[in-house]
Amino acid sequence: MAGHTAVRMCVICKKRRPKNELSRYAHTSSQGALVWDGKNILPGRGVYHCLDAACGEAFALRQAKKKAKGRSL
Ligand SMILES: [Zn+2]
Repeated sequence: MAGHTAVRMCVICKKRRPKNELSRYAHTSSQGALVWDGKNILPGRGVYHCLDAACGEAFALRQAKKKAKGRSL
């Protein structure tokens, strides 16, 4: 595994990048709230977006829209 770098996909632009070029967010609760996981230590399903400003903005917008929909369980 020497030299192996984990690669993850940005959920916005769908580009594959090394993990250290992405921001990780984790679903830590059943409500689907996403928490920024700066240290890559949080449990739960992770989602990633790359460090492009456009992707960061799109990601934030996406989360805001999800919240606006409310929780219908
Ligand atoms: Zn991206």
